[in-house]
Formats: sequence, C-alpha cells, structure tokens
Amino acid sequence: MAKLMTTVNKSKCIASGDCVEMAPGVFQLDSEEKSEVYNQNGAPDNVILAAARTCPAKAITVVDEESGAQLFPAPKK
Ligand code: SF4
Repeated sequence: MAKLMTTVNKSKCIASGDCVEMAPGVFQLDSEEKSEVYNQNGAPDNVILAAARTCPAKAITVVDEESGAQLFPAPKK
C-alpha cells in the first residue's frame, strides 16, 4: 500500500463536509469550519482518494509520498 500525503487547501474549502462524511478518520472541520487532515492514515487509500474526488471545491490534494507522484487531482500533461 502506498503511503499517501493528503492536504487540504483551506482557501478553496467551502466547508461542505463531504470529506469528513466520507473519511471521518482522516478529515475534520476546524474552528472556522474548514477541513483539515488530522490523521494521514485514518482510512484506506481508496477511501482517501474517493474523499478527494468528492470534494466540490477540489480543495484536496493526494500525493504518493514515496514516489512524489500526485494522485489527485491528476497532474496536467
Ligand atoms: S469536501 Fe472539500 S469543500 Fe467540503 S469540507 Fe472537505 S475540503 Fe472542504
């Protein structure tokens, strides 16, 4: 299993809560209702990627820590 590094761009986050609903072991809303990652390993990789895809603001980025490859959003070619 790849080791993922997930980040939230808080300036893009519109506090929809979708990521928290999908992966409550990874994301939580901070005091300003912006999502943050509190546990990088709080859900299986496919769930973390699904949460990133579900974000309506495209605020979540997932990188494979070992290879440095960006998994989501897919890098532009
Ligand atoms: S799904 Fe996106 S917009 Fe919604 S809370 Fe999570 S990061 Fe913010």
